[in-house]
Amino acid sequence: MASIYTVNEETLINIARVLGGDDGVRIIGILSEHKNITVEELAETTGIQINDVRKLLYRFYNHSLITNRRFRDKETGWFIFQWSLQPELVEAYVTSTKQKILRKLESRLEYELTHEFYHCGNPQCPNTTFEVAMDTVFHCPQCNEPLHRVDNNPVIEFLEKKIAEIKEELDT
Ligand SMILES: [Zn+2]
Repeated sequence: MASIYTVNEETLINIARVLGGDDGVRIIGILSEHKNITVEELAETTGIQINDVRKLLYRFYNHSLITNRRFRDKETGWFIFQWSLQPELVEAYVTSTKQKILRKLESRLEYELTHEFYHCGNPQCPNTTFEVAMDTVFHCPQCNEPLHRVDNNPVIEFLEKKIAEIKEELDT
């Protein structure tokens, strides 16, 4: 992949797969190496049906991953569309995804910090909150075994570490 793209290849491939499956990955792979490529050229290079190529291109276009330019063929008079990756917007997509994940992790951390959890020790039973444990006089609502306080510090530490990592990535 050309080094001018600010997101790494793995990220780009992941986005392509989410939006377009294996065919999407192949198309984004070619667009990451060639600029200004037509639907016909993409269909020919990948062996993917031209209508499928077109659908995928518009899906990527709607998510601002790629851009197009249009001009008139001098011989036929028809419009020709050429497609290219839109690196800044790919980065914007990645950034907004990371921000969403960050918000989820932060609200989960808030939840972990403001709640106490109890568990009976049976692997098939879920954690119980303090409020529920009060109601059952500290017996598991599922199996009725006595509940013990769960140390959620490892969870909190994990969340803090993840949050710090994402914040650092968003800063750069
Ligand atoms: Zn239980």
